[in-house]
Amino acid sequence: NEKSVGFIGLGNMGSRMANNLIKNGYKVAIHDINCNVMKMFSDMGVPTKETPFEVAEASDVVITMLPSSSHVLDVYTGPNGLLRCANPMRPQLLMDSSTIDPQTSRKVSVAVSNCILKEKKDHWEKPVMLDAPVSGGVLAAEAGTLTFMVWFLTFLRITFHLRFISSVSSVWIYFVGFKVARLETRDPILGESMVGGSEDAYLAAKPLFLSMGKNAIYCGGAGTGSAAKICNNLALAVSMLGVSEAFVLGQSLGISAGTLTKVLNTSSARCWSSDSYNPVPGVMEGVPASRNYTGGFASKLMAKDLNLAATSAKEVGLQCPLTYQAQEIYTELCKDGHESKDFSCVFRHYYSGQDE
Ligand code: NAD
Repeated sequence: NEKSVGFIGLGNMGSRMANNLIKNGYKVAIHDINCNVMKMFSDMGVPTKETPFEVAEASDVVITMLPSSSHVLDVYTGPNGLLRCANPMRPQLLMDSSTIDPQTSRKVSVAVSNCILKEKKDHWEKPVMLDAPVSGGVLAAEAGTLTFMVWFLTFLRITFHLRFISSVSSVWIYFVGFKVARLETRDPILGESMVGGSEDAYLAAKPLFLSMGKNAIYCGGAGTGSAAKICNNLALAVSMLGVSEAFVLGQSLGISAGTLTKVLNTSSARCWSSDSYNPVPGVMEGVPASRNYTGGFASKLMAKDLNLAATSAKEVGLQCPLTYQAQEIYTELCKDGHESKDFSCVFRHYYSGQDE
């Protein structure tokens, strides 16, 4: 691929996104304040840069994947930030995939739109900014790997069996199996990107999104990608609480978790928290609840996203009582020492302080 992509913030999510870009042929240069991360990529032969500004100097596109709004502001507008001496600057497109508040996304977008391009390319006179947070997480990575393994094993079994019947069939199955395995493993970590900013920029960036993840949804002007992300996670936090509360009450009233799962999943309460990410240990295989809530999406990240939702609600003068309640519960969960456990461990939280 022709485009040079600069990547800043290579933690749990960013490192996998950058790796997917590399696998898809993009020329990637990276920067992270963590020396171990820099060394890991440098050992892989990926160019590393000392500052965000140096990344901007070397890249047509820059993607950031940072913990929070303050980190994003620092990386864009700080003394050695992407926009230092921004007039004129090289990157045509800057994309922030961090989960942050829509207000900060808009602020950064305005700062970017005040710059001009070093070389005017195509129809773009100015650099453009997209806020493009992502869904997905470590479980998605595991699901991708598992799917790959299932396909690989099936392929081995079928090939072995057919080898005695027809070598042409086994070559054909090898080919199909390989294609499918490639498709399934191309996006091991990312689910959907929710994108805010100019629609032209979104369309131009679509190959990048599809190289990193499964899908991208255009949400509207600057800040709407961030808004979509925090609204999704707010709804998820509340649905997980609702499902957990129903299971706790159900079990106390004598219904087994397995039976109640069947009821919910064939009735009107069915949702992702009940049918794909069930919070009760032992009910579903492969979910964090069945491995002591390890992996998945950390409670501290859910608490962070609820804080963003609560702050945004206050800023627009909206009463969101469930948001505040969920924010309180997840904050408490973190204080109780479960901040690194998957957010579905909120189920267990119902039993703390109660007679089981
Ligand atoms: P992380 O903490 O694992 O990674 C963040 C990386 O940014 C680290 O490597 C850190 O060293 C680097 N960093 C911090 N400040 C920096 C700076 N000033 N300059 C350069 N690098 C800097 O976080 P993560 O789990 O990868 O999450 C990143 C974002 O994605 C967060 O906003 C999070 O809410 C969101 N998110 C996470 C998940 C998940 O499951 N982990 C899922 C969806 C969205």
